Amino acid sequence: MSDVPALLPVEEARARILERCATLPPEWVPQEDALGRALAEDVLARRTLPPWDNSAMDGYAVRSADLSSPLPVRLVVGETVFAGKLPTRELTPGTCARIMTGAPLPRGADAVVMRERTRSTTPDSVEILEAVAAGNFIRPRGEDAREGDVLLARGTPLGIPELGLLWAQGMTSVPVPRRPRVAVLSTGDELCRADEPPDGRIVDTNAPALALAVKRAGGLPTLLGIARDTREAVQEALARTEGFDVVLTSAGVSVGDHDFVKDALEALGVEQHFWRVAIKPGKPLVVGQRGPTLFFGLPGNPTSSLVTFELFVRPALRRLLGLQDVEPARVAGRLEGRLSKPPGLAHFVRVTATWRAGELWAKPLGTQTSGALRSASAATHLLHFPRESSSLTDGSHVELLPLSWVA
Ligand code: AMP
Ligand code: MG
Repeated sequence: MSDVPALLPVEEARARILERCATLPPEWVPQEDALGRALAEDVLARRTLPPWDNSAMDGYAVRSADLSSPLPVRLVVGETVFAGKLPTRELTPGTCARIMTGAPLPRGADAVVMRERTRSTTPDSVEILEAVAAGNFIRPRGEDAREGDVLLARGTPLGIPELGLLWAQGMTSVPVPRRPRVAVLSTGDELCRADEPPDGRIVDTNAPALALAVKRAGGLPTLLGIARDTREAVQEALARTEGFDVVLTSAGVSVGDHDFVKDALEALGVEQHFWRVAIKPGKPLVVGQRGPTLFFGLPGNPTSSLVTFELFVRPALRRLLGLQDVEPARVAGRLEGRLSKPPGLAHFVRVTATWRAGELWAKPLGTQTSGALRSASAATHLLHFPRESSSLTDGSHVELLPLSWVA
């Protein structure tokens, strides 16, 4: 089998893919469509926020110097400042203002005493029961943003608080790299659609599953249907992928007699970056490129295609989206039970991980066959069983990858 190349370690395969992924050009989108995407440009603050020192509590705005005499100190209440109103009076010695959370601090005030530390005896005076330092319960002007400063830098992933900061600036749209367009093709004579009578065939679950995974990773999937197991059919289907950033095929990448994906890619002039990764499930993965389009020939087994999506395609989509932190997430856990394998392939074992006694305990699912979706359906994490390792004892410290496909 001289034409079968050596197996590439997982990390190297991912690095080679990411080298090929340049951030896509920007587009302006409504902010609600930007969640999880990266900023394409620095955004400068147009507003200083909060625009004034304001109260962090319901209570009394005071001059802290007034509270040095023996407690309680009686102060005259000059006015009540509600959120949404501006104070009208400057505090003079011996006076204070009743103030609500978020209301601007009156001039002369340098601290707030919370209402619970006061006693109201008459409508226009209050007894302060504790001394406070200057700055107490004050949210300073400019704490969130200062006009002209870089509010959020290019490449910042937009989570919910970041979008909040932008809305607070009066912004409603934001520049982000456009979403990658991803074509999804299934190959195989044995496949039919879920809405067809099977007549001895099996349902193509890979394409709709991969399309959802693409969507969840921030891409725009297009289903190209099912290509039959001939070189011509696969080639013809792949020829329709002009204009896509990424093309995903599933099945037909192994060494079977009807495995035509590699040949079809070659015939289309796709430069093959690598074929076969030292990984289980998912060994027969092929990756190539033509012009700006990246091609992933994913394995056919349903679990293998999802695992390879998670380890290789999702990071690529995230990089196209301009995100820097694209490696699969990892958390520390402990193995419940034992595992063994021959060295040579890194195994990504489907586990259910639960938090117990301060640690995340990972229990391998009963079946690990890559053909059975059931073994993926209960998994919460993939346990990384390293390539050169051959056994993991009960309680071993392990690396767990949270899955993006869980409900
Ligand atoms: P292959 O790589 O073509 O040898 O396919 C490997 C296994 O995956 C076979 O058992 C196929 O029937 C199965 N398979 C291939 N494509 C799909 C698909 N789109 N949906 C579900 N199972 C598939
Ligand atoms: Mg096949």
